[in-house]
Amino acid sequence: MQAVRNILKTFFLVELFAGLRLTLRNLFKPKFTVHYPEEKTPQSPRFRGLHAQRRYANGEERCIACKLCEAVCPALAITIESDVADDGTRRTTRYDIDLFKCIYCGFCEEACPVDAIVETRIHEYHMERRGENIMTKDKLLAVGDKYEAMIAADKAADARYR
Ligand code: SF4
Ligand code: SF4
Repeated sequence: MQAVRNILKTFFLVELFAGLRLTLRNLFKPKFTVHYPEEKTPQSPRFRGLHAQRRYANGEERCIACKLCEAVCPALAITIESDVADDGTRRTTRYDIDLFKCIYCGFCEEACPVDAIVETRIHEYHMERRGENIMTKDKLLAVGDKYEAMIAADKAADARYR
């Protein structure tokens, strides 16, 4: 009996018409397609994109080279070397993040006691040459300097959720 039913379904194109009915039902419904990059979807203040290093308002680096971020990074993407600066503070002499290793988990940001390393909501970046995947300290600080207003606003919004 099932075999006969299947033959009839095939003969009368039942599944084809069922598919067409579904297509017709959705043809005139509002579309949710976003025309990226002209249109963009909203982002959470917790979005984990490109990393940045922040400074205090007086220009001093926040990072105190405690290496907690390096220790917590599950991908071993962070490499830190440190030394004592002229003013007696401990500072990084090298702070690299390998973006090819990074899994954007946000653990480094969570671990940092002084909110120095953060993940910004920047996600539109690319590399063209070998080695550009390494975010050096200078590159991280440059991102932080450029986007500090956005980072601070996102941090404040994030704190309200907690
Ligand atoms: S986001 Fe995660 S994987 Fe990437 S550097 Fe930070 S701790 Fe490591
Ligand atoms: S970024 Fe934060 S956690 Fe990492 S070494 Fe600097 S102060 Fe420590």
